Amino acid sequence: MQELRPTDLPPTADCIRSIQSWLSGYPAQPLAYVHSFGCQLNVAEGEQLSALLTEMGYGMTEDVTQASLILYHTCAVRENAEDRVFGTLGSIKHLKAENPDLILCVTGCMSAQASVAEKLAASYPYVDIVLGTTPVCRLPQLLYAHMQRRQTAPPAGGKRKTLRPLCDLHTDTDIPEGQQSLRDSTFRASVPIMYGCNNFCTYCIVPYVRGRERSRHPAQICEEVQALVKAGYREILLLGQNVNSYGHDLPEDTDFPSLLRELDRIPGDYWIRFMSSHPKDATPALFDAILDCKHVAKHLHLPVQSGSDAILDRMNRRYTVAQYLEKVAYLRERVPDFSLTTDLIVGFPGETEEDFAATLSLVEQVRFDNMYSFIYSRRTGTKAADMPDPVTPQEKSRRMQRLLSLQREIAVENNKRFVGRVMRVLCDGESRKSPGMLTGRSTENMLVEFPGTPDQIGSFVTVTITASHSGMLDGIQETA
Ligand code: SF4
Repeated sequence: MQELRPTDLPPTADCIRSIQSWLSGYPAQPLAYVHSFGCQLNVAEGEQLSALLTEMGYGMTEDVTQASLILYHTCAVRENAEDRVFGTLGSIKHLKAENPDLILCVTGCMSAQASVAEKLAASYPYVDIVLGTTPVCRLPQLLYAHMQRRQTAPPAGGKRKTLRPLCDLHTDTDIPEGQQSLRDSTFRASVPIMYGCNNFCTYCIVPYVRGRERSRHPAQICEEVQALVKAGYREILLLGQNVNSYGHDLPEDTDFPSLLRELDRIPGDYWIRFMSSHPKDATPALFDAILDCKHVAKHLHLPVQSGSDAILDRMNRRYTVAQYLEKVAYLRERVPDFSLTTDLIVGFPGETEEDFAATLSLVEQVRFDNMYSFIYSRRTGTKAADMPDPVTPQEKSRRMQRLLSLQREIAVENNKRFVGRVMRVLCDGESRKSPGMLTGRSTENMLVEFPGTPDQIGSFVTVTITASHSGMLDGIQETA
């Protein structure tokens, strides 16, 4: 690998201009294929990378075989996600053999790890550019460097020599401001509000690959959201690894509840959602802001991860079950059926039968509307990866089934409360299962299916709920 720092290269704007000029000389517009793995933040960054590529002169394609440039924006959260990326890189090796001019880039959390970069160099030498979690605006610089070396080293005897991959793996503190996005949706937009994480949960790799928390300035976030609302976006998703600690690193006196209140003043017909929330930083001020702000969706996803204090301690979550329940009680005191969802990890190293029973008990007490539960998956490079883990996979699976069945029963009961209600729903697509039906989400983040026409996708509709199931509501539109 040849490591390049931003200071080794011309400024991004100059690199973009040079690439535009090179690409304009091609007989047909070259196409780029971008695929993002993992979380919403990765998807949002993938949209920024796509916008940069179009600015440089590429057209976009969803057919990888048609691309002159292939970019994989990777995720490191799960080891099997990494295996998928390596598998994908292996499966496109023949494309590079058929077209040595094809440019292959790997970016994101996975490639930010030195061990992965080494593996890429050793086993996938046909990758041209490797970027870690450096700001997306570094892509034009590395692309420029790659194209320039190709210009100065044209194919000898018609055969292109394999060049060493260029890389920039350092995680720096820059915040990529003013970045355009080529958004997939015309009505839902993600807006990163902060990057990195300070929490070091023992099962998570994010702080090692994304660095410490850096918040964007509120004025810049407000400006971006205002422009999106003006452009007709109906749902704005604020993103960060822990949005609840937003602003703590800024010199101005601000925090996440104040940001929500400020955004709420933007006129228009839209909802604001956010993720992810850390319970230790979820305060009454946050709950008050959610309940008071007209545009903030009335739903909170508050990942608890376990119902056992011993396990929460081993996870380094820095709250207790009692503290979590206190927060839920505050919310439910103001709105008794406030919609609450969570994440739970089953079979964390050392989880005993008693620890698991405590998780079931917490789920019974809180009665979440939905839950994303995962069997613990070992992640190399984290503290939990070295913890003794005597529970068998079969036992973990049994616990998972028990948890899922309890949650199903709760969801069936919970969802009955919506029957007969008139709900505002943001219509997001056609139902995959039922022809002629549309789907959407209510402010409580409930999935609703109802009859309608495709021209309604992307707009708010009013639906009367006629039936409920464990994961969905049926309804009919008041006005079609
Ligand atoms: S809060 Fe914990 S789980 Fe979430 S990104 Fe940070 S370290 Fe990972």
